[in-house]
Amino acid sequence: MTSDLEIGLYILLLAGFLGYHIITRVPPLLHTPLMSATNAISGISLIGSLVVTGADYSPLSTILGTIAVACSSTNVVGGFLITDRMLKMFKRKEDQVDRGRRRLPAGPIVGGAVTVAVALLLILAGTGRLDPGAGGPAHGRASQHVLSFLYIVSALLFILGLKGLSSPRWARRGMFAAELGMLMAIAGTLFHHEIVGYRWIAVGLAAGSIVGATMGLRIPMTAVPQRTALSHSLGALAATLVGVSEYIRHGEALGGVKMTAIGFEVVIGALTFTGSLMAAAKLQELLRGAPITYRGQNRSNMALILAMAGLLVALIAVPSASTLFFVMVGLALLFGFLLVLPIGAADMPVVIALLNSYAGLADAAMGFVLANRIQIITGALDGTSGFLLSLLMCRAMNRSARNVLFGAFGGQVEAEAGRGEDDVARGTVRTIVPDEVPGLLDGARLVVIVPGYGMAVAQAQHGVAELAKILVKRGIDVKYAIHPVAGRMPGHMNVLLAEANVPYDQLFEMEQINPYFGEADLALVIGANDVTNPAARTDRSSPLYGMPILEVDRAKSVIVLKRSMRPGFAGVDNELYYNEKCMMLFGDARDSVTKLFTALK
Ligand code: NAP
Repeated sequence: MTSDLEIGLYILLLAGFLGYHIITRVPPLLHTPLMSATNAISGISLIGSLVVTGADYSPLSTILGTIAVACSSTNVVGGFLITDRMLKMFKRKEDQVDRGRRRLPAGPIVGGAVTVAVALLLILAGTGRLDPGAGGPAHGRASQHVLSFLYIVSALLFILGLKGLSSPRWARRGMFAAELGMLMAIAGTLFHHEIVGYRWIAVGLAAGSIVGATMGLRIPMTAVPQRTALSHSLGALAATLVGVSEYIRHGEALGGVKMTAIGFEVVIGALTFTGSLMAAAKLQELLRGAPITYRGQNRSNMALILAMAGLLVALIAVPSASTLFFVMVGLALLFGFLLVLPIGAADMPVVIALLNSYAGLADAAMGFVLANRIQIITGALDGTSGFLLSLLMCRAMNRSARNVLFGAFGGQVEAEAGRGEDDVARGTVRTIVPDEVPGLLDGARLVVIVPGYGMAVAQAQHGVAELAKILVKRGIDVKYAIHPVAGRMPGHMNVLLAEANVPYDQLFEMEQINPYFGEADLALVIGANDVTNPAARTDRSSPLYGMPILEVDRAKSVIVLKRSMRPGFAGVDNELYYNEKCMMLFGDARDSVTKLFTALK
């Protein structure tokens, strides 16, 4: 084993281990920002793309590199901006009171500016650009050493950035450190000794920054899942293009190790690119969200995997066989489409998290190809984060990891899509109208609000926050109960409620809130369904059996806001609706919340 490969593998293992420990400490509250933060950090693939673009390899490398620079910088700029937008929303009650008196954090900004300035001076010194008499191979080596140190500092800042996400209090500061690390790594790379021209770098950076800034500043919080999928596809495209460029550049001179790394980079990159594009299109409803299945699907997918593996082995033996290389890339692109085809839109979050981890692996492979260790570190962090989030989602949904990994999911969505109102189980359902609610709340002391996917669909979060304020004015204690997989993204409800200025210290995780339901006068369920279904505790035949739920049926009374008796994501009836304590308030959640607000005012 070459020492470079050996060191790279050690780094991959240790960074993965470190990532595991840091990311398991990120509370569910911050899981959505975590996804976009790792996305931004994995945009470090930009530094490899910068070198490919700016070096005088070949016109094709410059073109591929420029596209890769545009893709990676879109992720860096867009990822950091949207993460900051989300984190700014997370406030405690006292922070909201203090809002008027808030100042910019001058310390970190000054510290950051000084650090960047010192780093750039060091690089300039290393490249000899401060000393016109310097030159020759020695100055190239010197600048490489300075750059390596700079990358180590950047990696440290990225790790601190992710560590900051262990609490909303430190999260923005942590992200500031990560942004600084990114700035240092990019600025330093611009002095890389192989870079001879800046024109195409400037084009790629400008295009990526404009697209990234537009996405980061404009995209509504409800569209975060599709934005995340889109940025995975851009990151994966960048890795694939750099891999193709490196293959064309080195061709038959590639050894077995480099060929293996390039093979992994382009195969994982290409399948993640098309798979993530499909996921984004399904979530944006540009494609039909229902799973698309056909006979022999698993077998043909397996055949494709074997074909790609066979081609990679052949290429390791004969790296110059370029036709095989391009066939392999083509198959990987096709495989990405086929992988996501049978998965329903509602199951996409798990797929997105998995694709996130694949994008991380492609990045790490790119690090091996370009002998760039910081990319191995960020690739491992991104890969671990995506993998852990998908496992956490599976656990909270009571699904096995195997079921997710082998893509045999989405069937329930078909059940959901095909289910009509005639199909519901029989039972007595009580209804309520908004004007009856104030009477019900006479003498109430505790109301627990349970938001779910329907609140996101109806965009009712602002109305819900206003409604809670009215209840508080009536002397009622209001708590929000957040299930880990309520909605369609980890931490989905937290972000929406934070957007509506609900202080995060009023949000209670499932384990914290369940003991309170027994003493709650009312559980107000707003567009949540599966996460409240008591069948998860009692009915062994239910697909939800074993999934931990919010125990709303233990409250003294329950009001459910939804449009009909249709089931939720899992496609099963909710026993709760037939409970004599439960009353249905049918209608769009936003309309119903407005009517409740008016009735209570
Ligand atoms: P849910 O079980 O999917 O139910 C959402 C309910 O919202 C539906 O029953 C729907 O009923 C109602 N609804 C939709 N639009 C509405 C509107 N405009 N106004 C009022 N109600 C509306 O949602 P959940 O309780 O939040 O549970 C989440 C589900 O997603 C779980 O099964 C979870 O396993 C799954 N999941 C979550 C994640 C994640 O990371 N969060 C990832 C993957 C899967 P009507 O049509 O009758 O209105």
